[in-house]
Amino acid sequence: MWAADGGQVIVLVEGFLGNGLGVAAQQREHAERRSAAVNSGTTQAHVAITFAAYNAGRCRNLDDDNLCRIYERRPLVCRIYPMEINPHIPLNPAIKECPPESWEKGPDLIIGGELVDQELAGLIQRSRQADRDEIRTKDAICASLGIRTTALKGDGFTAYLPDMGAFASVIEHVTQQPLPTDGSEWQFHVSGDDIASQLLSGGARVTTEPPLQYTFISLRAA
Ligand code: SF4
Repeated sequence: MWAADGGQVIVLVEGFLGNGLGVAAQQREHAERRSAAVNSGTTQAHVAITFAAYNAGRCRNLDDDNLCRIYERRPLVCRIYPMEINPHIPLNPAIKECPPESWEKGPDLIIGGELVDQELAGLIQRSRQADRDEIRTKDAICASLGIRTTALKGDGFTAYLPDMGAFASVIEHVTQQPLPTDGSEWQFHVSGDDIASQLLSGGARVTTEPPLQYTFISLRAA
């Protein structure tokens, strides 16, 4: 819908190895459920793919009065904001875009560490389920678009801005076919030689080519 409205979608990819490299043990279950099991080199990996709206600056749907022009059909992520979809990320008002006064209006979202708005809790569950249900389709869409390089979870993301015409036709094609049964193959782009050698020891494929098709967003402290 975002692309059909003339918006740009950004594809963000992060992965971890089957041996656990890249994911904390307590986060593994959540991370694995929303990832595709793929191959990299001689080992197995898990790749999470996010299709997100990409806006340079303010959202393209904000009108001159700062109101949403598509409010009735706004994306699920907008309905969930400012809550976190990832259960391992606590809500931290200080890092949200909402101005301080917006946190003083409306009902409390969390009481005693529990999310009290049941409608919101249902939307978060819907989003998590969609992540699980759609991951293999997203992997197949990425394969058709030539998106095959992931970052290591925690080290960064690879970010792609596909042509939206190609994106729409690939989605249409992939969703009308049975999903491929052969193993999907990915390589890693990492922030430094130390991470690369850990991945190579685990059997993964690591690229040293400069990125042409994507940007590497490093999460490594400068
Ligand atoms: S609710 Fe979502 S789509 Fe609407 S203006 Fe805000 S960010 Fe944009």
